[in-house]
Amino acid sequence: MTKKLKLSLATQILIALFLGIIFGLILMETGQADFAAAYVKPLGQIFLNLLKFVVVPLVLTSIIDGVISLKDIKKVGTIGLSTILYYSLTTAFAVVGGLLSAHIFKGTFQLLQTTNLKFDPGKATGIMSTIVGLFPKNVLGPLVEANMLQTIVISLFIGFAIIISQEKGAPLAKLNRSIEDVFMVIMEMIVKISPYAVFCLITPVIAANGAEVIGSLTMVLLAAYVAYVFHLLVVYSFTVKVLGKTSPKKFFQAVLPAMVFAFSSASSVGTLPLNAACLENNLHIRKDVVSFVLPLGATINMDGTAIYQGVCAVFIAACYGINLTPGQLLTIVLTATLASIGTAGTPGSGMIMLAMVLQSVGLPVEGIALVAGIDRIFDMGRTVVNITGDASCAVIVNRREDLREAAK
Ligand code: ASP
Repeated sequence: MTKKLKLSLATQILIALFLGIIFGLILMETGQADFAAAYVKPLGQIFLNLLKFVVVPLVLTSIIDGVISLKDIKKVGTIGLSTILYYSLTTAFAVVGGLLSAHIFKGTFQLLQTTNLKFDPGKATGIMSTIVGLFPKNVLGPLVEANMLQTIVISLFIGFAIIISQEKGAPLAKLNRSIEDVFMVIMEMIVKISPYAVFCLITPVIAANGAEVIGSLTMVLLAAYVAYVFHLLVVYSFTVKVLGKTSPKKFFQAVLPAMVFAFSSASSVGTLPLNAACLENNLHIRKDVVSFVLPLGATINMDGTAIYQGVCAVFIAACYGINLTPGQLLTIVLTATLASIGTAGTPGSGMIMLAMVLQSVGLPVEGIALVAGIDRIFDMGRTVVNITGDASCAVIVNRREDLREAAK
């Protein structure tokens, strides 16, 4: 069953991606991008809506269940802290990779005009408001608005309270498990049709982003994608092998369906159910670890986004004729790591947080307009890195838990 799921779903998704690209190219060449936007894109949107509808109850119930099954508060704290440490370190490393790659490619960047640029950073948030925003002021609001950070905080409170209240909390624990099981079944139904989603999501992107749109930004895109691939293949292979004692080949094969889905949907949160299914079914990662580490990662861990922000900061500075000093580069590493926490796992949010990174080193926020036109293409790659980072952490935490249990 496991093998069948892995092979068939991965293959189906890859075929869907390939067909979607071909169909997108045909529509682009025949000037039918509007058809793709009007009729194919909405079908993709239906799948994203379905994933969003299932993700909040799943995150809520699975984190509560994860906390309860970890049994003691200290253990949750230890896993939580090591998860956050791994996420922060790999993210900081990712920004450095992005900055390095941008400096290597800098000479080849085609610099763009910066006069008359306009960009409204909208709801870009600072670090203090991100921290304040962690704490919910009512129970239902965060669930209704799909505010993932607050949903995680609510789940942690409920999970801890159930552990503390012992028998009194037991019925709620049972109900929670039952709701979780039911939503898991719904999720499996949605995951089964994900190849169609991949097709419908990728076609309009290809149809609307012809080669001319990429044009002058080709080398900037290349700098970002080289850093994405380096981070995926070198950093995660290393951590998964050394800390998780898992073969990188096995790891990438297992999470491939989720990676392709992330590429087409540009949404970490949307990919969360599929990523969890890949880890549980193909790598047999413990459910309590997956339920705890993945939702947290989909919300706060964005290595791909951090790489993108590093690359874009260097490119935008170059367009304004500014050479970033070592101090400014360090500031970018820090702010991009923090911005990663505040970036929602939805399409395009990394670009909004780029405003915070640019501001931290005094670069004009309007510079974002230079890269905004093809954000989706940056976004597809960064989301793949984002969700693979979450999966790598689950493998490592799983290994630690196995060792801890064996030592008992
Ligand atoms: N789309 C990314 C994600 O969902 C976030 C971003 O825009 O960087 O992970």
